[in-house]
Amino acid sequence: MAAMKRLFLKASPLPSSAINCLKRCISTAAVSETTKSPSYPLGSLPPRSDPKLRNVQWVFLGCPGVGKGTYASRLSSLLAVPHIATGDLVREELSSNGPLSHQLAEIVNQGKLVSDEIIINLLSKRLEAGEAKGESGFILDGFPRTIRQAEILDEVTDIDLVVNLKLPESVLIEKCLGRRICSECGKNFNVASINVKGENGNPGISMAPLPSPPQCVSKLITRSDDTEAVVKERLRIYNEKSQPLEDFYRNQAKLLEFDLPGGIPESWPKLLEALNLLDYHEEKQSAAA
Ligand SMILES: [Zn+2]
Repeated sequence: MAAMKRLFLKASPLPSSAINCLKRCISTAAVSETTKSPSYPLGSLPPRSDPKLRNVQWVFLGCPGVGKGTYASRLSSLLAVPHIATGDLVREELSSNGPLSHQLAEIVNQGKLVSDEIIINLLSKRLEAGEAKGESGFILDGFPRTIRQAEILDEVTDIDLVVNLKLPESVLIEKCLGRRICSECGKNFNVASINVKGENGNPGISMAPLPSPPQCVSKLITRSDDTEAVVKERLRIYNEKSQPLEDFYRNQAKLLEFDLPGGIPESWPKLLEALNLLDYHEEKQSAAA
């Protein structure tokens, strides 16, 4: 396996400079001055009383529309770690006129996929900036997408846990078709009211709509690619690509499968429970009160 991995990396066109850069960034940003970080049981929190211990290093997986960004972002605030979404990194670079923005604009305009090399460059830059601000740990959202990216990540750091958020396909489609964007303020809403009855031992799923405030109602638009055919195709491609990645982390015993029981009010406490964070969350809330 190790030999295969070497071959794999050797055969990859990714320059070692990019890997070294990421290696440097992650090793300093995330592990700080400590020796190799201890590993924690699946889903449990590292003891944070020792400031020398680094914070969590988690990856979030989930198909488009599952709400991955929402949960990753909530957890990042709770745990005080950065939520690093590669989609945001690409958008920020594009709008910043940074060194990669021209190259990126061309790729995005042609509808092509952004290469591993560019993503790793952006990620390195982001971690370096975080390091300068004293950040520790991370929740990655949108990276890795492929086994190759996961192997690069394993070369440079320890991932503690990979959370795979799941919803049945019928619910995902309904949810995507209900998406609305305000053409004025750009905020996202959802008109879908989902109520799936539990059957064959599967629990039911209910999600309330996310209504827009009155001033946005007349300005709501639907994204042109939120049609049933496009959504289904997006899910098919996602499933095809993500399966090997899920297997990769399953084999490492790092994959936590989480079936969302509904919208945020139903799912958030259950997710905290699955991550053994319920007590931590309550302690933090009562400390803040
Ligand atoms: Zn609005």
